[in-house]
Formats: sequence, C-alpha cells, structure tokens
Amino acid sequence: MEPKDSAFSRRGVLTGGVALAAQSGTLLAQSKAAAPGRKFRGWVSRGAGPGRTTLQDLTLRPIGGRQIVVRTEATNLCYSNSSDVLGLPPPGLPPVPKDAPTRAVPPAFLAMSRMALIQGHGGVGTVEAVGPEVRRVQVGDRVCVSGTPQCGSCYQCLRGRADMCQFLGRQGPNDLVPIADMRDGTPVYANSHIGGLAELMVTFEEWVVPVFTKASAADLGMVCSCVSVAGLGCTASQVLADVGIGSIVAVVGCGPVGLSAIQGARIAGASTIIGIDPIRVRREVALKVGATHVLDPNVEGDKLVEKVRELSNGPNNRLWAGGRDSGGLLGGAGADFVVEAVGADRAKPKLEAGPDPTGILPIQQAYMMCAPGGHIVTTSLPTGNVTLPAVVFTIGGRTHHAGQYGGANPMRDIPRFVELLDKKQFDAKSLATTIVPIEGMLDAYQQVIDRTTVTALMTA
Ligand SMILES: [Zn+2]
Ligand SMILES: [Zn+2]
Repeated sequence: MEPKDSAFSRRGVLTGGVALAAQSGTLLAQSKAAAPGRKFRGWVSRGAGPGRTTLQDLTLRPIGGRQIVVRTEATNLCYSNSSDVLGLPPPGLPPVPKDAPTRAVPPAFLAMSRMALIQGHGGVGTVEAVGPEVRRVQVGDRVCVSGTPQCGSCYQCLRGRADMCQFLGRQGPNDLVPIADMRDGTPVYANSHIGGLAELMVTFEEWVVPVFTKASAADLGMVCSCVSVAGLGCTASQVLADVGIGSIVAVVGCGPVGLSAIQGARIAGASTIIGIDPIRVRREVALKVGATHVLDPNVEGDKLVEKVRELSNGPNNRLWAGGRDSGGLLGGAGADFVVEAVGADRAKPKLEAGPDPTGILPIQQAYMMCAPGGHIVTTSLPTGNVTLPAVVFTIGGRTHHAGQYGGANPMRDIPRFVELLDKKQFDAKSLATTIVPIEGMLDAYQQVIDRTTVTALMTA
C-alpha cells in the first residue's frame, strides 16, 4: 500500500514538471505490465432466455490509453442486472425473441443482447495493468470499479453532480470496445465498461476509485457495491439531502440499498429510523443494522402512511414548544427523510411478496409519509406511472430527489464509505448473506431473484 501523498507531494505540485514527469515515468513503466494474451474465465451473456450466460475461457486483448485491467476480488450480484444474466424479461419490455428482429424490441437492447457481453456493473479488485495515459491508479492498487463513473471534467462533474457524470450515458452498443476473445474468436465486451462477472475486469480510468484498506474481498465488495454506495449515498453523502442529527428517517424497502441507507442514517445521527419491508428476515436485519422501528407493509396495508406519521410525531405536538403538529392544512407529521428502495419484481419472490409487484405503490407511500418540508429520495426501478395528488407539488414543501447512485460522488464518497467499513460503522456481513466462488454465480443470482438472500457476492 502506498502512503497517501507520497507520489504527489505538495512540494511536487508546486515545482510542477519534476513531480509530473516522475509520475508519468512510473506510469509508462507500469503500462508495460499489460498482459495481452492472458487467459481468464468470465461469464459471457448472449442471446435470449435462460441459459444465455455461460462460463467461458477468454483471452485478454491488449489495452491502451486510459484502460485498466483489474484482477477481480469480488462483484455484487445486483438485482437490477438479474434479467440480463438469467435471461428473464426485463420489466416493461417483452422477452428478447429468438426470431428477432421481427418483434418490437428497442434496437439498442437488441444489439446488446446479440453481443457477447460480460455482465456485472461493479466490483472490487487489484490493478494488474494500466494504459499509458492512466493517472488515477497504479499497478497493485486496490480499487472499486464504480457503477457510476466520474471523469471530473464533464459539465455534471464540474457542477458537483458526479453521480450524473456524462460518461455514464456512454455505454451503449456503439460505445463498448472488445476486451477479450472467446476460444472461437468471438469478441467479448464488458457491460457498462466494467464486466464484473469475470476474473478480470477491463475498464477505463473514469470508472475506478482507489481504496486503501486491508478489508476482506467480500466486505470491500459489499461496501463498494452499486447497492451499498447508492444506499449510503442517499443518507450519508449529503449531496441530495442532508440527514441531520436527531432526524426521522423512513426507509421503504430493506434490500441491500435500503439496509445501506439505514446504516447511513444511523451514522449520520438520525434518532428514529423506520424500516419497511414485507420480508421478515429483512426486517430483522434492518433492526440489527440501525432501524429503531420496522413495519410490514402487508400487515399495515392502507394504514402504512398513517403509521409512519404516528411514529414520526416526536415527543410533543405543542406548536409554541417546537412540537410537530399532526393536523392542519399541511397534512400532519411524517418522516423528515424518506428513502424508497423497492422496485419492480423481476420474478415472483419465494419469500413474502410485497403489496405491489410493479413498485409503484411504495413510491406513492414514500411521498405521502414524508413530513412537510421533508425530502424523498427514490432509488428503485419500478414499472409504470406514479399518480399523486397534484396539490402536493405545491402545498407541503416536500422535495423529491431522483436517487441514481444515491447522489454519491464516487471519488470522494467511496473512500469515505470504506473508512466506515474499516472503523466498523458499516456492517457489510449482514448484507452479503451469500458469497460464492465464480463457479457458483448463477445459483447465487437465483437466490437474489428469489429474494431468499439479502444479497450475494461472487468472489474470483
Ligand atoms: Zn446495480
Ligand atoms: Zn463527468
């Protein structure tokens, strides 16, 4: 591990050229470590339906420019990627037909389905090789390959919204580059410029965040996963909403995103944290990692919003005494911050199903359980349209934030989240309830889709 500032000291910055030349000299030397022809195994997805993802022997292509080869330590099996891996129809889209393109499937989706693609949009590992233009990391660094890139130069990065870095939109079929070849010569691409479901990830500098830690592969893989970064981002990154001490936070959905949001809320100093999930085991984990109350939406039914408001009343309701008033035009008390993390079912859960498989109802409830003046952050992938009383867009002062990546600023926040892991403030083990070697990936993904595990990691 490299001490924090040795490669680029303050004096080095001031004297300019000397330090920069030394730095680039090191990197040029490192670039020779790239290993074209290196063999590795990866799960390659192609075609339609179940069985589209198979473990293949692959040969690495040469890298250049800002490319980086990362030896994978762990990759999380994100629920949102399950349709692509297991060949399930994605919500809102028909199954990819064998006789395509005679069916109406979006062209980009069809093109992607025909490419030999390594799925997985995140992971952690060790840098094995870097292209000659790479500055952010060195060979031997441990890195998070972040689901959301951060270039630092685009308009969104410059305006402080690195969670919206415009490189994120540059991962369509025409943006991807072949990174390896199958035995029969078929070129293989890395989904999202990441391709975490393989022994090697080939990515670009914009996607990597160096992390200086001795954490285990599984713990690091969990805290650096798309789901935990998104959840922690919602409640601890302060980009979207600044959860203050003594706040009341409701988290709708206690999967890995929600459970990470609960932990972020605890760390931020929230005093009341209400976890809501239909699955009993997940409510138990919620209590373990920081929730002060849990609710089952199937039991509460139509009364869920009211119940959250009751729990959010605070110790007094006297208007002249700082109390929370539960009546009047503004619609009563509620949570100061609501994080919604439910989404549409990709398949019928084998444990307790929620009240709405489309994920729309939880968004409506999230909005309505928020206190006047409060904040709602939605992180899920539902299907359909949300209906709300239009007056709430004027009266009540609630602010809604679209929570892609929880607003997290990757280069700033991921190292902070790893610190929370190292200082034992973030509990990774309670979330990563299935950990498998690369050969067990498909079985573990089935557990994720069945919801019989909180979430799963593949180690390589
Ligand atoms: Zn994800
Ligand atoms: Zn950017």
